[in-house]
Amino acid sequence: MKFLVFSDNLDNGKQIMSYLNGKGEFVVYTPDDSKEYADYGASRVVYLKGEHQAKPISELIASEIKSNGFDFVFITSTVTGRDLAAFLSQAINADIIPEVFDVKLQDSKVSTKRYGLGGKVVLEEESNGKIFTVIPGISDAVPSGTSSQVETKEIQRGNVNILSVNPKKGREVDLEKASIIVSVGRGLGKKEGIAQIEPFVKLVKGELAGSRPVCLDYRWLSEDRQVGYSGRKVKPKIYIALGISGQIQHIAGMRDSKIVIAVNKDKAAPIFQEADYGIVGDLYQVVPKIMGYLS
Ligand SMILES: Cc1cc2nc3c(=O)[nH]c(=O)nc-3n(C[C@H](O)[C@H](O)[C@H](O)COP(=O)(O)OP(=O)(O)OC[C@H]3O[C@@H](n4cnc5c(N)ncnc54)[C@H](O)[C@@H]3O)c2cc1C
Repeated sequence: MKFLVFSDNLDNGKQIMSYLNGKGEFVVYTPDDSKEYADYGASRVVYLKGEHQAKPISELIASEIKSNGFDFVFITSTVTGRDLAAFLSQAINADIIPEVFDVKLQDSKVSTKRYGLGGKVVLEEESNGKIFTVIPGISDAVPSGTSSQVETKEIQRGNVNILSVNPKKGREVDLEKASIIVSVGRGLGKKEGIAQIEPFVKLVKGELAGSRPVCLDYRWLSEDRQVGYSGRKVKPKIYIALGISGQIQHIAGMRDSKIVIAVNKDKAAPIFQEADYGIVGDLYQVVPKIMGYLS
């Protein structure tokens, strides 16, 4: 089988390449400049130069597909990636299956998994899809031990005028390296709750993290502290979940933790199924008690 990959997110791109390694030949197109793309088993890495506009990139990729006949296209699910999938679908007349995190390739059919109903269910689907936008989690990132051939191509100017490009602030924290993580959820109830939890985080020499509502919706913590399938994948020795219900998208980011301790006032909260130790109670009463034992 032959695959084409477009990646403008190195972490997700590495996962896609690791997933494809051993399944057939694949070529990677990327507007990033990281040399690491060449370490994951692609036969060729094409570095794209110029403005990252989806339409002209789709024209380059469509022409590669038409001359070399690829079976499936894997695209990182990013703003450019999703736009690109739409243009490409039209250009090569192929179906898109968006936002997948699991793909099984059979002869002509393909079965995929993605979240549905706002994240409440996992949809397992069979289709003739040829183009996938892929969210993080399809595979671990494992270098292939080989080096890909590399080349560059110029992206033609598109018909959108980019007015300004403002880099985001760098990451505040490397959660992937933390050995103790204290993670707070919507159960915290208020932004001021963070200041009440911080002394506990300091006492256990941990890093502070949060669920998506805390980091993305309410912005009580920065985005780079979000744990979950659309956030960071962490594997600390101890993961302490405070006021987190334990929805699958959160669990996807912390299930490799060695020991999970959960505090939740609802004894039926799903987080307790993931937890090695669970405390049913109000986090604002439980945390000061634990601090009392520790100090
Ligand atoms: C496409 C998509 C991607 C997503 N990606 C992510 C992701 O990466 N990470 C992520 O976390 N979520 C993600 N989500 C959201 C996810 O589905 C859940 O909505 C989210 O994880 C819930 O966060 P929570 O547990 O903080 O809040 P809730 O589900 O509202 O849970 C709050 C919990 O706090 C408890 N509680 C309330 N007060 C207290 C108290 N005083 N003391 C103790 N316990 C208390 C409650 O009993 C409840 O269990 C995603 C969803 C979608 C659709």
